[in-house]
Amino acid sequence: MATPERIIPTYGEVYGQAAQISHLCELVAHATIPHALLFTGKPGGEALPLAMAFARHILCEHPTSEGPCGTCLSCRQMNEGEHPDFSIIYPIAKEGDKETTASDFADAFAKMMRQHVRFTDQEWKETLNSGNKQLNILVAEADKLSKKSVLKSFQSRHQVVLIWQPETMRTDTANKLLKLFEEPPEEMLFLAVSHRPDLLLPTIVSRFQMVRVPPIPEEELQELLATKYGVAADESAEIAHLAQGNLHRALQLASGAEDTLLEQALQFLETTLMSDPRKFQSLTEELAKESRPHVIDMVDKVTGLLREANALRLGVTDAVYIPPADLPRLQRIAERLPLSVYPELMDDLGRARSELRQNANTKMVFFDLMVHFARSYTS
Ligand SMILES: [Zn+2]
Repeated sequence: MATPERIIPTYGEVYGQAAQISHLCELVAHATIPHALLFTGKPGGEALPLAMAFARHILCEHPTSEGPCGTCLSCRQMNEGEHPDFSIIYPIAKEGDKETTASDFADAFAKMMRQHVRFTDQEWKETLNSGNKQLNILVAEADKLSKKSVLKSFQSRHQVVLIWQPETMRTDTANKLLKLFEEPPEEMLFLAVSHRPDLLLPTIVSRFQMVRVPPIPEEELQELLATKYGVAADESAEIAHLAQGNLHRALQLASGAEDTLLEQALQFLETTLMSDPRKFQSLTEELAKESRPHVIDMVDKVTGLLREANALRLGVTDAVYIPPADLPRLQRIAERLPLSVYPELMDDLGRARSELRQNANTKMVFFDLMVHFARSYTS
């Protein structure tokens, strides 16, 4: 994967968002930037890079109607990801009674930014190596911001605060931040990036102006893969389709990382078809060697496959994203699953996911799941 030249991306490095970018440029040009903007989109998608590029534009000393100048002190500081008037807040794990805030993990975050620019909540969790601890935006963060809000910005007209995953705010954090959102200090602008806006408190959402960040159009993604990331032409069309407009996912598909997950998920389903507890056991032992985020991804993959199997049964083929080569394997599974068992299996998978998140034993969770699947097949 190409290493970005700058940590905070420019509009040119955000894809498929022409309409959103032109809207944001107008806000800067007319000096009508709202105090709080909420960017929503899929994990690993364009929402985070777009919000960052916008922050760059807001803080630029000589902004044009099309974006930041790229050469002023502010732009150069954004290249390095270190600007005195730009702060990023993201979920972290609480360490005992210590007052930890996101800035304690700034090096890890900058490292992720340098490697990917696009990364998911799950990958962030893996980077922090926080095991099974839940990641939250902690109340210490809100206290720190309140203190900061009474200070003048250092060199810019604005202080920009980017909040990644506001849905992970604890209630105490949300209540404190609400006060800030309600009476925002004149210089302070909030850009929030949420992958699960449905989990946000309505009182929070109502303070923000929404920017919906759509997936990259398939053709644009295909071209991007072929021209910028060196993916072979015949492969890029298929990957662009499977990735559903998400560059991050597309690059994972191209690197083969996604292949492993799909293969494991298919093997999981195929093993359940065998109805042999000894086979279940050896597979769960294999899975127990994987990392926790990986097995959670596996459950998500199986959930996706089950949804696609359901679509196959119903004849809705445009909702099926499995590579053509693997389609017969999924078809064999779909043929054995009566439509009536889908809701229950979906519930089982949902439960398995939350149990794994809460540190349940991988072997036991998967063994249970396999038994449930095996029971559901018609002979
Ligand atoms: Zn500039």
